[in-house]
Amino acid sequence: MQRLISRSTGRDLLRCRRCGSEFPEGRATTDGWHYACPTDDCDSTGIGDGLKRLD
Ligand SMILES: [Zn+2]
Repeated sequence: MQRLISRSTGRDLLRCRRCGSEFPEGRATTDGWHYACPTDDCDSTGIGDGLKRLD
């Protein structure tokens, strides 16, 4: 599997492991490196740790 950096699209879907909400990748990051759940009362962060990438 190729891992492409698609900062221009940001359409991959992520799911928060803590609160269970789903959101596009672009909503979870501002710089393409650091990810955090966009839900106000949730402080889950990190791909593979707090957030899971959906294929
Ligand atoms: Zn969350």
